[in-house]
Amino acid sequence: MLQSLRLLSGCSKAVAASGTAGLRCSQLSSRVTASSRPLVVRTMASEVERAQAAAAQADSGAPTIFDKIISKEIPAQVIYEDEEALAFRDINPQGPVHFLVIPKVRNGLTQLSKAKEEHKPLLGHLLYVAAQVAKQEGLSQGYRVVVNDGPNGCQSVYHLHLHIIGGRQMNWPPG
Ligand code: AMP
Repeated sequence: MLQSLRLLSGCSKAVAASGTAGLRCSQLSSRVTASSRPLVVRTMASEVERAQAAAAQADSGAPTIFDKIISKEIPAQVIYEDEEALAFRDINPQGPVHFLVIPKVRNGLTQLSKAKEEHKPLLGHLLYVAAQVAKQEGLSQGYRVVVNDGPNGCQSVYHLHLHIIGGRQMNWPPG
């Protein structure tokens, strides 16, 4: 029987960012024969396209999906919270453990390259929280910390965030 094979071609980040993970990118879908449930295939190319589209909104000051997570308007699996930082599981995990650490107040930190002198204590705090939560998550064998910055860095949400990915062997160089 003909079923839709969802060729998401990397739209995962944008779908996740819209809070509708699991929905397909219709413009990228095609129909192929498949005997089981729809298969999600993602390619790097459109991760890049999505990141480039997101960059166009980067300096608009518009709230992001993370603001809605902070205000609890949309649910997230929060695993750590203090006055300045929030850590929650990534909706599109790239490893057995994948969580994000974000500042609760963006204060101009849409991306790392916007960091100013005044942000130094907060930046240090976010890294410290990353290490503490990684410990809490049992990542004793190590993990990767990633900050995607701007279109070349494939950033899709313009609210500074650290990715902490672990629970599997990482490779180098990154894509
Ligand atoms: P980046 O591409 O570096 O900007 O990373 C943004 C990350 O946010 C991606 O890894 C997404 O999977 C993640 N993300 C987007 N929306 C949500 C959400 N509602 N809950 C958890 N993670 C999300």
